[in-house]
Amino acid sequence: MTVTTQVLELKLFIDGEWRLSTNPDTNKVINPANGELIAIAPRATIEETNEAIKVAKATFESGVWSKISAQERSAYLLKIADLIDEKHDELVELEIKDNGKIKAEADIDIDDAASCFRYYAGLIRTPDGETYHVADPLQAMVVREPVGVTGLIVPWNFPFLMSVWKFAPALAAGNTIVYKPAEVTPVTATKLIEIIDEAGVPKGVVNLVLGQGSIIGETIARSHDVDMVSFTGSTEVGRNIMRNAAGNLKKISLELGGKSPNIIFADADFETAVDHALVGIFYGSGQVCSAGSRIIVEETIYDHFVEEFIRRAKNIKVGPGLAEGSEMGAIVSESQLKNILEYIEIGKKEGATLASGGNRITENGLDKGFFVEPTVFVDVTPEMRIVKEEIFGPVAVIQKFKDEEEAVKLANNTIYGLAGGVFTSDGAKAMRVIKQVRAGITWINTYGPTYNEAPWHGYKQSGIGSSLGTFGLDEFQEVKQINISLNVGPTGWFSNH
Ligand code: NAD
Repeated sequence: MTVTTQVLELKLFIDGEWRLSTNPDTNKVINPANGELIAIAPRATIEETNEAIKVAKATFESGVWSKISAQERSAYLLKIADLIDEKHDELVELEIKDNGKIKAEADIDIDDAASCFRYYAGLIRTPDGETYHVADPLQAMVVREPVGVTGLIVPWNFPFLMSVWKFAPALAAGNTIVYKPAEVTPVTATKLIEIIDEAGVPKGVVNLVLGQGSIIGETIARSHDVDMVSFTGSTEVGRNIMRNAAGNLKKISLELGGKSPNIIFADADFETAVDHALVGIFYGSGQVCSAGSRIIVEETIYDHFVEEFIRRAKNIKVGPGLAEGSEMGAIVSESQLKNILEYIEIGKKEGATLASGGNRITENGLDKGFFVEPTVFVDVTPEMRIVKEEIFGPVAVIQKFKDEEEAVKLANNTIYGLAGGVFTSDGAKAMRVIKQVRAGITWINTYGPTYNEAPWHGYKQSGIGSSLGTFGLDEFQEVKQINISLNVGPTGWFSNH
């Protein structure tokens, strides 16, 4: 892979044109692995955001995208997928430099993104309406239509992939888009728009507004010209979007935070359980919404599990995503690094035992980047903040349970409901337990895999609505009932004097 060193000058994309913001204030985008400046991004104004919304509305109403056939839209989506494949290496490199993740993770993200466009390119060509048997002389049917102008607001942990999870179904369904990436990771977001433009999608269909959530995100969520907001990010901002969306009762889809339980029974395959529990929390440096951050272990194997988990955690090679052999990358930004280190201090003050890690890593040339040791807390209680709150970093808490009932109780003792795992060699127990875990994405004897074909869905305060699968397309569609009279004539309900 060739590594580019130039500083990119990012722009807004409104009505098919790349342009700078009128706001002279800019955002410096930093490579979290070494502190190098990689891009300068604009901070768009409220006026520019409103302009993008206006363009998206006019474009939607023009029908250049909403009224063309599903086959035509599908062809564009396939072209976008091909271009993502073609630019795979460039996208991987940029994602690593923008976000800090390791190459193996970035490879998966970019491959999954291409696959996601292909999935929705296929899905939109399958039957999507229904007809009903009703009394003669009527025929009833349901057709699906695009929602209209969609505001897509995404986080920094999977900048490209989280965007594509929204773009692919939104475009497939015929919507137009105002897109707001996270301020710390705007680089591959810009590339995504370049690719969509290169694929020939008509101007005005996608509009990119870079800048602050409190300005752009708020404007999108409040706008009465936006018909839907699809948001992925923190529960706190999700709640804010829900409030702001109330003005015109726009449709919302919210994919939010988590504090997910990973239950390990004594009869589980021990090696498998330890290995997957490590991946569950330390993949993506723990900056994963579905991270298995609460590991809940049966008491008879607890000590052995903790010992082995710590031994393996200490062996994880932390380093720059582009460096050969790195197994866990950087934390996305200095402020997120600070949050994580603060939580580690909170854990210690709350009385939990810091069993491993807990420090920023500055040795071996990592001092200019933002790296944290894989961290493990034991002797925790359910009231502790490190057990209740999403840390969004490489910090695991390991809890102990006596029996199945207690395992389920601990697992569900959270305001979140995004994901959960169970490890056991007893099939009936695995199903019994997983069915009681109040979460939308669950695993048995594995932790983490997910597919474009299956819904990604949070219970409780982890969200509203779903991404991916047929459910993900539903989010971006309205359903319309059409009743047709097959016998045209008056009803005779009122007398005709
Ligand atoms: P965040 O909520 O701080 O920001 C997400 C996006 O919202 C960014 O683009 C940000 O600029 C924008 N934003 C900020 N304030 C806003 C406002 N007032 N109105 C509208 N938009 C605003 O989240 P983050 O720190 O970027 O990402 C981490 C969070 O995302 C974690 O909580 C994680 O669990 C969650 N997440 C969830 C999923 C999921 O699928 N459930 C996936 C990835 C990340």
